[in-house]
Amino acid sequence: MTACLFCRIVTGEVPAQVVREGDRTLAFRDVNPQAPTHVLVVPKAHHADVAALTDADPALLADVLAAAVAVARDEGLDGGFRLVSNTGADGGQTVGHLHVHVLGGRAMGWPPG
Ligand code: 5GP
Ligand code: ZN
Repeated sequence: MTACLFCRIVTGEVPAQVVREGDRTLAFRDVNPQAPTHVLVVPKAHHADVAALTDADPALLADVLAAAVAVARDEGLDGGFRLVSNTGADGGQTVGHLHVHVLGGRAMGWPPG
């Protein structure tokens, strides 16, 4: 058994509201949404963060981004959306399995808080 929360969501051991599944990616709703649409897209394989995945398997990183765009389209985010991948402590990453936040459904301010 792995201690990684998102690996456990990938296996189904921890329930999640899945919105899209590909061969190598999974997308599910964030449990604490920060926007009307807030979906997390992960590679099914464990990679710690976007830097680690860039080194290990850049094609999989492209798959993750393509899945994120597909989610945005499925969710009807025609007015635009935001993709975020918090990386490391200063980046605000709290789960150590790469994930891309898909945020939309309201105007997103900049800079973030
Ligand atoms: P981070 O802070 O690492 O960029 O993002 C982690 C995200 O995972 C947070 O937005 C948080 O709400 C979400 N999250 C934490 N635990 C769970 C969970 O058990 N299920 C789901 N669906 N999302 C979670
Ligand atoms: Zn993991």
